[in-house]
Amino acid sequence: MSELAYPYEAPASQALFDRAAAVTPGGVNSPVRAFRAVGGTPRFMVSGTGPYLTDADGREYVDLVCSWGPMILGHAHPEVVAAVQEAVARGTSFGTPAEGEVALAEAMVERVAPLEEVRLVSSGTEATMSAIRLARGFTRRTKVIKFAGCYHGHVDSLLAAAGSGVATFALPDTPGVTGAQASDTIVLPYNDLEAVHAAFAAHPGEIACVITEASPGNMGVVPPLPGFNQGLKDACAANGALFVSDEVMTGFRTSRAGWFGVEGVVPDLMTFGKVMGGGFPAAAFGGRADVMAHLAPAGPVYQAGTLSGNPVATAAGLAQLRLLDDAAYDTVDAVSERIQSLVTEALTKEGVAHTLQTASNMFSVFFTDRPVTNYDEARAQESFRFTAFFHSLLANGVYLPPSSFESWFVSTAHDERAVQRVADALPAAARAAAEATA
Ligand code: PLP
Repeated sequence: MSELAYPYEAPASQALFDRAAAVTPGGVNSPVRAFRAVGGTPRFMVSGTGPYLTDADGREYVDLVCSWGPMILGHAHPEVVAAVQEAVARGTSFGTPAEGEVALAEAMVERVAPLEEVRLVSSGTEATMSAIRLARGFTRRTKVIKFAGCYHGHVDSLLAAAGSGVATFALPDTPGVTGAQASDTIVLPYNDLEAVHAAFAAHPGEIACVITEASPGNMGVVPPLPGFNQGLKDACAANGALFVSDEVMTGFRTSRAGWFGVEGVVPDLMTFGKVMGGGFPAAAFGGRADVMAHLAPAGPVYQAGTLSGNPVATAAGLAQLRLLDDAAYDTVDAVSERIQSLVTEALTKEGVAHTLQTASNMFSVFFTDRPVTNYDEARAQESFRFTAFFHSLLANGVYLPPSSFESWFVSTAHDERAVQRVADALPAAARAAAEATA
C-alpha cells in the first residue's frame, strides 16, 4: 500500500494501537476492527454523539457503522443515557430475576408475533449457539444447515464458510474447530433452495435445523430472493427440522418487527442482539413456546448466564425499543435512502461499476456491475476499489465499515448536517475508487 493511500495521519490512534498490540492479539478485541482488510491505522474512538464519533486525535466522523448496528438512535441518546444512569444507580448486577428483563422480553414478544417466549443472553453468539443446542435437543438430531457467507457469531459449529470477519480475512476454516463439530454442519450456497432439498434428501431424519440470517448483512447486504425464506420454512416443516431465523442484525432495525416484519415468514426459533441491547451486551433467542419449554429449568436442555438479563443492559435495550416507534423507522429509512442515492450518484458519475443492495434501511455497495445473490458472487467484486473509497471517505470525516463484506448502518440521529458531510465527501471517494488499481 503506497503512502498516497493514507493521505493523513492518526498519531494518537497509532500510539494506542501500538500499546494495544503489546497486550492484546492484533491490538483489537474483535478482528474486523483492526483495519487489516483496508490497511492503515484503526481509529480509537473516545466519544460518540448522535451521528458522530470523535477519535483520539480529535477528528470527528459521520458514523455509518453505528457499532455494527446497535446504535439506531445514534450515540448517547439522552433518554437511553438517562435510563442507564438510573439503572446503574440501583445496582449493576443482582444474579436474581429482576423486572427489567421481564419488561424487555414483553416488549420483544409484543413486537414480533412468532416470539412466544424469549430467553435473554449477553451476545448474539450466545443466542445462536443456544438456539442450535435447543434445536438439537428438541429434535434429537445432530446436523445443521447453514449458508455460505452467513455469519452467526463465532459458534464453533457455525464457523464454516462464515461471512463478516471470516469473509474479510478469507479464512477457509478456523483452527480450533474440531472435525466432529464441522462435520455436523452442512454449508450450502445462499439463495439456493434446490441445494436445501438435496441436503434433506441426502440426510433423512438427521437435520435438526436450518439457520439463516433473516436477510444477510455479513457478506455485504444480500437479501433473500422472493420465496427463499418461505421455501426454507416449508422444507423444514416437511422434514421435521426447525427453521431458525437469525435476526441479530436485522431485529428491530429493518422494521419494528425486524425482517419478520418485512417478509412475514414465521420461524420456529429466532435470535436477536444489537438493537435490543441499546449498545450494551444483551441478546436473546426465542420462538415457539413448545420448543422453548425444553430449556432449563422448564426442560432438559441446559443454558445459563451470570450476566444474562443484566439490569443495566435491559434498561438500555428497553429505553431504545420504546423510542423506536413508526416515526423513528420512517426517519432511518429516509436517511438510508438519501445516502444510498448520493452513493449511487457519485459512483455513476465517475463510471465506477457498482451494485448497491438494500434490505430495508440496511445497505452496502458491491464493486461489480452484477447483482449479488450469494457469497461467491460477493467475493467476485473488485474489493481493491472499496479500499480506496474507504480511505478517501475516512480522510474526509466519514466512517464506513472497514471491509467490503459488511452492511452500512444509519440512525435517527443522521440529520441534514451529517448527510451533507457524506455528500461532500463522496465525489472524491468515487474518484479514488475509479482510479484504484488491483
Ligand atoms: N448473528 C448475526 C447475523 C450477526 O450479524 C452477528 C454479529 O455481527 C452475530 C450473530 C453475533 O453477534 P455477537 O457479535 O453479539 O456475538
